[in-house]
Amino acid sequence: NQKHVVVVGGGFGGASTAKYIRKLDPSISVTLIEPAMTFYTCPFSNWVMGGLKEMKDIGHTFEVLQNKHGVDVIHDEAVEIDAVNHSVTLKSGDEVKYDRLVVSPGIDFKYDAIEGYSEEVANSSMPHAYKAGPQTELLTKQLQEMQDGENVIICAPGNPFRCPPGPYERASLIANYLKKNKPNSKVIILDDKEKFSKQGLFTKGWERLYDGIIEWRAGSAGGKVLSVDPATMTVQTASGPVKGGVINVIPPQSAGKIAIDAGLANESGWCPVNPITFESAIQPGIHVIGDAAIAGAMPKSGFAASSQGKVTAASIVRLMQGKVPAPPSLVNTCYSLVGPGYGISVAAVYKLTSDGIVSIKGAGGLTPMDADDDQLSEEATYARGWYNNIAQDIWG
Ligand code: FAD
Repeated sequence: NQKHVVVVGGGFGGASTAKYIRKLDPSISVTLIEPAMTFYTCPFSNWVMGGLKEMKDIGHTFEVLQNKHGVDVIHDEAVEIDAVNHSVTLKSGDEVKYDRLVVSPGIDFKYDAIEGYSEEVANSSMPHAYKAGPQTELLTKQLQEMQDGENVIICAPGNPFRCPPGPYERASLIANYLKKNKPNSKVIILDDKEKFSKQGLFTKGWERLYDGIIEWRAGSAGGKVLSVDPATMTVQTASGPVKGGVINVIPPQSAGKIAIDAGLANESGWCPVNPITFESAIQPGIHVIGDAAIAGAMPKSGFAASSQGKVTAASIVRLMQGKVPAPPSLVNTCYSLVGPGYGISVAAVYKLTSDGIVSIKGAGGLTPMDADDDQLSEEATYARGWYNNIAQDIWG
């Protein structure tokens, strides 16, 4: 009587779980449901916009998972989860039964939160480019076609959201592109927040590399976006309108739609889980990982999702073998590129306490504020190494 795990989503969390269950216990069969034939990573998608990488460099297929690791990959979308009968209905109409289900669908966007914004506007004129793919290409093309002297507006959301340093790395690499190609243009970040991830390090890097090209406006200093108008390419803020040649609106987010439809999210829009196994606190037998999950102090990052995927794989294997899952040790590092040879990072190791998942004091940290040029250049090298290693670990 072979045990069967179904995984919804072949991104950072889901593909990690699928592969590691097979590695830990090949007697368990694993089905991975993912609509995309090629998964494009958000990590390094900012590098594509900055002209440092191409789309083909950030695309990964599922052939190795299928052929080498024996994961049964179905390219389809999960449209319904029946937690009582342990089945997932696919868009094709097929039904897949599971003993345990892992849901790692990433995020969806709250388009309604910004007046004038919608999925159509995002797809056509003001891309979020916060899922890598066609919108990464659209934003890159818009940057290339923009007139010198026009400004790039990045609207950054409030917490929590996918990849806390993401908008600021994006601003950096766009500024790097503008400096060379459109020297009269600027990047203006309209932020919902009062502060942001690695702010001191980013700000120092911007002063050193981009001298005035990047302007950041805090929520209370005119950063809060009230509405957008794609017809006039204008963003309305409490301090007045801001016009842009390119406008990148990153809206507030929630767990991916399928997680919400399956009743896995609470009123916050994110999914509460048991921090040992990542089993849903709402629906037994279903594990939720990655951006969609509420994971204590862990940020919504690809590294975090993969780390959670491995912990979940180990827990599921133990549960299926009739053993008790062990309390996890989790890890995350987020590298950001401020310029091609200028990297910064934040790292943490996490453990489980009565307060949930917390970071262990002294086990992580940030790039030092007084890092010298060699160290910043090494961090940029580590960023490339990190990407190659994690991509190989997950899809390779
Ligand atoms: P994803 O990786 O998005 O995977 C979700 C998958 O589920 C998708 O393939 C989707 O097609 C699939 N799916 C959704 N719904 C369904 C359904 N109904 N049926 C079947 N499949 C479904 N993280 C880092 O660690 N380092 C970085 O440097 C970094 N840089 C980033 C830069 C940017 C610009 C952005 C936007 C993000 C960045 N991130 C980075 C964050 C990282 O991309 C996410 O945290 C990570 O992708 C989360 O993994 P996940 O498994 O939750 O979701």
